[in-house]
Amino acid sequence: QAKEHGKNKYHLYSRSIQASIDRRLALEVQLRKALQNEEFLLHFQPKVDIGSGRVVGAEALIRWQHPEHGMVSPALFIPVAEETGLILEIDKWVIRAACREVERRRTLGIACGSIAINLSARQFSRSTLCADMAEMVKRYRLQPGDIEIEITESTVMGNPAKAAEILQGLRALGFTLAIDDFGTGYSNLASLKNFPIHTLKIDKSFVQDPAMVRAIIQLAISYRLKTVAEGVEDQETVAMLATMGCDIIQGFVYSKPLPLDQFIDFAHRFPPGDAR
Ligand code: C2E
Ligand code: MG
Ligand code: MG
Ligand code: MG
Repeated sequence: QAKEHGKNKYHLYSRSIQASIDRRLALEVQLRKALQNEEFLLHFQPKVDIGSGRVVGAEALIRWQHPEHGMVSPALFIPVAEETGLILEIDKWVIRAACREVERRRTLGIACGSIAINLSARQFSRSTLCADMAEMVKRYRLQPGDIEIEITESTVMGNPAKAAEILQGLRALGFTLAIDDFGTGYSNLASLKNFPIHTLKIDKSFVQDPAMVRAIIQLAISYRLKTVAEGVEDQETVAMLATMGCDIIQGFVYSKPLPLDQFIDFAHRFPPGDAR
């Protein structure tokens, strides 16, 4: 009886593992197709400067417009893309799309600040990253400040010495550099001073925690870094962050990530009632 039971359990277990492997494989196939069929697009979430009250740029966030399932969240497909290595192709697509948008705005004379892109750990540690980014600078005639690169804290803390070197190379090319999801990665705070970065992005998981926010902003001030708070959803949190000296706010309190045209419209009308 007990043996039978155990056997059944094993069958159930292996079947559910098989199902999840199948799902992953299916997703991988679909992601490859998505790249070929250009089913990805970027949405842009405004970043608002507390001091000036203006939109100073946007974070580009990838979206997958699936022909049958509609909009798929990156939280669902980025982890699978990272496991399979497809993230390298996806990141490349994002980098190109953002640079092309910078060029388009320059041609049309549209000013709405910098575009921030997210680079995966795999992309960040590719030996040819700096050479490829140098090629982007040339091809799209990027100016310093056009593109901000967001790297997560856990990515740079994996190998701080190597990370410092890569960041140095990117900075020399004129990119603005931010550490994303700061506070989640068990940083060796001492290595922070070796990173030639401009910005710390306070992770949304503790943006409402005054002690944590204060500590990060103090750290940023002593290293002469700017702070961006992500995931800010209400005015009370904006007020707290302003009092503590945070520089920039990004979150639903101002806007969710928007399709390109809507973002440009938003940036030009913000703050509301400010006729320009
Ligand atoms: P992230 O870089 O930390 O991006 C911030 C996430 O917080 C975004 O989720 C954004 O929509 C969400 N968010 C912004 N404001 C609020 C708010 O007020 N409340 C709440 N609850 N959430 C808010 P999203 O777009 O689903 O992206 C999730 C993650 O996927 C990103 O986290 C990033 O790690 C990754 N990702 C997104 N786009 C790309 C990309 O183009 N390349 C790579 N490599 N990763 C990406
Ligand atoms: Mg980010
Ligand atoms: Mg973030
Ligand atoms: Mg985050």
